[in-house]
Amino acid sequence: MILTETPPGTPPTTPGAPSATIPPAANWRTLPAVQQPTWSDPALAARVMDHLALQPSLTAPADVRRLGAALAHVSAGRAFLVQAGDCAEPVGAAGLAAVRGKHRVIGEMAEIISSAWNAPTVTVGRIAGQYAKPRSQPQETVDGRTLPVFRGSMVNAPEPDPAARRHDPRRMLTAYHTARGVLGELHLIAHETASGQLSELWAPDAEPWTGQLPTRPWDGTLRSIVRDYGQTRRTDGTWRRTGMWTSHEALVLDYEQAFVRLDPFTGEHYLLSTHQPWIGERTRQTDGAHVAFAARIANPVGLKVGPDADPATVVELCRRLDPHRRPGRLTLITRMGAARVRDRLPRIVRAVEEAGHEVVWACDPMHGNTVTEGGRKTRHLSAVHDEIRGFFEVLRRAGQWPGGVHLEVAGDHVTECLGDHGPKDAAGLARAYRTLCDPRLNDDQARATAGLIADLIAR
Ligand code: PEP
Ligand code: MN
Repeated sequence: MILTETPPGTPPTTPGAPSATIPPAANWRTLPAVQQPTWSDPALAARVMDHLALQPSLTAPADVRRLGAALAHVSAGRAFLVQAGDCAEPVGAAGLAAVRGKHRVIGEMAEIISSAWNAPTVTVGRIAGQYAKPRSQPQETVDGRTLPVFRGSMVNAPEPDPAARRHDPRRMLTAYHTARGVLGELHLIAHETASGQLSELWAPDAEPWTGQLPTRPWDGTLRSIVRDYGQTRRTDGTWRRTGMWTSHEALVLDYEQAFVRLDPFTGEHYLLSTHQPWIGERTRQTDGAHVAFAARIANPVGLKVGPDADPATVVELCRRLDPHRRPGRLTLITRMGAARVRDRLPRIVRAVEEAGHEVVWACDPMHGNTVTEGGRKTRHLSAVHDEIRGFFEVLRRAGQWPGGVHLEVAGDHVTECLGDHGPKDAAGLARAYRTLCDPRLNDDQARATAGLIADLIAR
């Protein structure tokens, strides 16, 4: 296929290199885009976008395709998806410092879950790009002053100060450079792990790793994907974590558009700011810019689905985002709330199944369970766990694979969610409440959540 499918007049480029033509994904510009920054200097914003469009991409089309293949295995019930990380990532040194902790805890969750059923976990971070936030209110009042809300470090700063809250387009550059640094860290970690793996294989009594595969009916494709980006079996039968794919909410379309690049080998356009972008609950308008943008890129795409989504709308979104009904192209990230998941989700699952989309069903048990205690946003671990239980019940009853979870987790011992392994009351939240936006599970709560998932899978 391939080169002949490239639009006429398009110069050949190397994969991921900036494309000289305006990609078709730019059609979103004619559609309403909600939750966009109001840049303080629009001319500067335009220059920043031009500059970013000439920068090296952050991901490569071949890797994005491999994640797509891994997610097809998840949709078929042969692997489990763990997608997790910050609600809002910090930029700069703080962003880089947090990478190892997050990689470790997500890898530990993967090991716990994989051990339950002897099959791989596909690990995707909310990482290397999660710098923009949709908000329910445009303004907030802090100490009597009304300020524009914090919209993620790609847009403004969290400090409660009018100057910090301006939408500064130069922040898109900071976000890009931080993402590059974070990816560098992730590559280093993967390299370190791989070297360990090699010495293990070279040990005289070690069997080749291909001899250690579990007996599940997964094929060679998944095997190699998981070896590089997920997990491998150790010779003692436990799991070794390796790399991690990246994901973020593709919210600020000015930034994302700069990373839509033509893959000359397939003639398709990829969003190379990440591996798997997702569309948030607030920006999934059927005729809106975000859906049109995601519809035109070849990446696997996530879509948040909240309790008020009606089944017909979800099916229409599936039709637009997954017109070819490609297994794993679409991950439906349901975030219903513990109180509503058993009531609202069954109809949606049935409608999507009847429409013939082989999606990955993933449970976000965080965003439907946010409460305020003592002036701080928090979540009760018990509610998070109850939504996961409800999700498994609904999917199982529908004969579908509960394919994954989507969590907000920190790589250390923060005190942002209430309950077991964390603060018991609102006063305890203050001890290490460090999130830039929504409350995250701490490392112990994340491992406990993986334990629950392992139990539910093994059941
Ligand atoms: C988020 O994932 O941080 C988020 C804002 O989610 P949602 O779009 O589901 O509200
Ligand atoms: Mn969040």
